[in-house]
Amino acid sequence: MTQLPVLSDFKRIVVKVGSSLLVDQKASVLNRDWLKALCDDLARLHQRGADVLVVSSGSIALGRTVLKLPAGVLRLEDSQAAAAVGQIALARIWAEMLSEHQIIAGQILVTFTDTEERRRYLNARETIARLLDMRAIPVINENDTVATSEIRFGDNDRLAARVATMVSADLLILLSDIDGLYTAPPHLDPKAELLPVIQRITPQIEAMAGGAASEYSRGGMFTKIEAAKIATTGGAHMIIADGRILNPIEMIEKGKPCSWFLSPSTPITARKKWIAGSLEPRGYVQIDDGAVKALSQGKSLLPAGITHIEGVFARGDCVLIRDLRGAELGRGLIGYDVDQASLIIGRNSRDIESVLGVPGRAEMIHRDDMALVGD
Ligand code: GLU
Repeated sequence: MTQLPVLSDFKRIVVKVGSSLLVDQKASVLNRDWLKALCDDLARLHQRGADVLVVSSGSIALGRTVLKLPAGVLRLEDSQAAAAVGQIALARIWAEMLSEHQIIAGQILVTFTDTEERRRYLNARETIARLLDMRAIPVINENDTVATSEIRFGDNDRLAARVATMVSADLLILLSDIDGLYTAPPHLDPKAELLPVIQRITPQIEAMAGGAASEYSRGGMFTKIEAAKIATTGGAHMIIADGRILNPIEMIEKGKPCSWFLSPSTPITARKKWIAGSLEPRGYVQIDDGAVKALSQGKSLLPAGITHIEGVFARGDCVLIRDLRGAELGRGLIGYDVDQASLIIGRNSRDIESVLGVPGRAEMIHRDDMALVGD
C-alpha cells in the first residue's frame, strides 16, 4: 500500500470550490455555514505556513437568481451577465469570511489566454506570487464576462489545475459533490469502488470517468481527470474529495476516503522540463563570466551580466543562455521584450527606471524561469 502524503507536507495548496457546494441549489443562496467552516480549514493551512489559493466558482449560480433567469442551461450571454452580477457578491463574501481570520483576500479573474500566452502568464504568475508573499489568499475565478465560448475553460476544474501549475503549487484539492473517482459511476453501479490512489492516468482510469455536468457545476468526472493530467504533469499532486460536509479539508486529514492522483515529479522539475523541452527558443543572451558564476550559485540573471542579445523575442518567450565562448548553458523565459532588453543590457538594475522611463523588474531571467544544462 502506497504511503500517502499528509497535508502538512505541502507548501502551496490550491483549493477548488464548486458552485454546487457554495450555493444552496434549492434556495439559490450562499451556504454561509459551510463556507465559514471551510474558511476555518483554509486558515489552519495558512497558519501552518502554507501558501493557500482558492479557485471559487459560484458567480453564475449567484447571479442568475438575482437576475431571475430561468432554470436550466443558460445561453452564453446570459451566463456572462449572471457572472457579472454574481462575481461581486462572491468576491465580497470571500473577503468577509477570510477577514474573520485576519487573512486578506485578493480577487483574480483569469481567462484561458492568461494561462496560455506566455507574457500574460508571467504577469498573472507574478501578481499571484506577490499576493502570496504578502500572505494574502488569492481568490480566483474565470473571467466569465469576457471569455467567449471558443477560448474559455468553462469549468473551474481545469482552470484550477492550470492555476496550480502556473503558480508551481504542490497540491490541488478539488472539493466536489462526490468523494473521489470510482471504478464506475456509483449512481449506476452499486459495486463501484472508490479508488484511494491513482499513480498514473491510464486509458482505464479515463474510461472510469463517466458522468456529466449539472445545471450548477460545469465539471463532471471527465474534467476532473483532465485537471488531474494537467496538475500531475506540472508536478502537483491532486485530491478529489467530498466537499458536501462541514470542514472538508479537516476531514481529509482525519482520514475520510478520497482519491489522490500522485505526480511523478515536483513543480520545480516539471517547470524546468517544460522550459528545457517544450518551448522553441526565440533568440539568445550572451553572458559574462561573473553572471555564469552567479547562475551556478542559483541566482537570477540580471541585465548587468549580459553582453549581447540576438533574436526577436517578447517578454515570456524562451531564449538560450550562452557564455562568452558561445557554449549553451541553458534556457529561460526572458523578462523583457527585445527592444527594452537591448537598452538595459550591461546596466545596473538600479538604472532600469531611468533608462526605460518606468520601473522594471530587476531580473532579465528569473531563476525560477530558467533551466540550466545539468539541472
Ligand atoms: N466560472 C463559473 C462560475 O463562477 C463556474 C465554472 C464551474 O462551475 O466550473 O459560476
